[in-house]
Formats: sequence, C-alpha cells, structure tokens
Amino acid sequence: MKKTRKSENMTANCASITCNFGVCQNCKHSCCQDAKPPLTKERMTIITEYLRDHEKAASNVFARSGYSFPSVDSDEFCVFYDKTTKVCQVHKAKPETCRAGPITFDINRATRKVEWFLKTRELCPFAGKLLNDPKKLADHLAFAKEEIMRLICGLDPEALETILARDEPQTFKIGEDFLPKSVLTKFSFE
Ligand code: SF4
Ligand code: SF4
Repeated sequence: MKKTRKSENMTANCASITCNFGVCQNCKHSCCQDAKPPLTKERMTIITEYLRDHEKAASNVFARSGYSFPSVDSDEFCVFYDKTTKVCQVHKAKPETCRAGPITFDINRATRKVEWFLKTRELCPFAGKLLNDPKKLADHLAFAKEEIMRLICGLDPEALETILARDEPQTFKIGEDFLPKSVLTKFSFE
C-alpha cells in the first residue's frame, strides 16, 4: 500500500480556499509583515517536510518568543514570504492563522467562548471581497473555524496566553462559539 506523507494529508484541501493571490499580490498592507503566525509542533513538522520535498532551505526558519513562529527578516517579513512574487513559499503547508486570514480569533474567558473577528476592508482587501459575498464569507468562516480550533488544541498554555495578549486592531466581531470542554480543561479556563 502506498504510504501518504502527513504533509500531503494535511494540505490536500487547502490550495485555493485560503488565499486570493489576485487580491493579495496588489495589497499595500501584506499580512506577511509583522505577522508571526503561531506554529504548533505538528505544523513545524509539516512545513519542514514541505520544504524538504520542494528542495528549499529549511534551517533557521523557526523562532520562539513565548510561542513558536516563522523567523522574520530585518523588515519583519516572514521568512517564507517571497517579496518579488508576493506569494507565500509554503502556501500549501502554511500555518493555520494564515489559512484562516483575514478571519482571526480571541478567547473570552468570562463567556468561555472563542470569538471570531474579520479584518476591516481598509486593512485587508480580501476581507472586502468576502464582505461583498456572504456565501463565500460563510464558507471561509467555516473553514477558518476548523483551522483555528486545530491550532488552539495544538498549542501549549504559554503559547496561547502569549498569542491572546497580542492586540489585533482594525478587526470586528462576526461570531462566537462555546469552547469544547477539552480546551477549557487544558488551558484552565473553567
Ligand atoms: S492583508 Fe488581506 S489582501 Fe493583503 S495580503 Fe493579507 S490576506 Fe491578502
Ligand atoms: S507563512 Fe506564508 S502566508 Fe503566513 S505569514 Fe509567512 S509568508 Fe505569509
């Protein structure tokens, strides 16, 4: 029986839904600068395998300060961002928050809910496209929820606390869901 790599399994369904390069390549903001998307151990393995399979350099690509994220250059651009093409070099293996963007999240301890936010159209032209297409926004929100919940479940408590302390200006709330009991217990939110 043919063996399937974990990275192939994890990335098979995410080639198109998570990015609109037509919009992103003309974006003045670029969410790949100052992004530092969180990485679980599993995601680092997937990216490392992806880099190896595509014969790309894989040393010193990860950093940690409270949580793990891709290294950045002197301009704070993500190590995986190609400044010439304006495309992510690990698109099919990229982190959960990059797939979910421009949808992001916060956790409300009082309500024990995960809250979903969308960047404003002024900050993210792709968000503007989604706001003009309710069906596409609903589809992408469903996809983003799966990605972010997998991320949350895979983080250690220090990493999640560090991420939650970051400000995400120019976003607005678009929904919320109760957190599963396993998450409440793991992060002592009960
Ligand atoms: S901010 Fe929005 S439009 Fe700009 S690169 Fe990021 S996802 Fe694309
Ligand atoms: S992993 Fe890719 S999409 Fe995410 S910040 Fe880095 S270059 Fe951008």
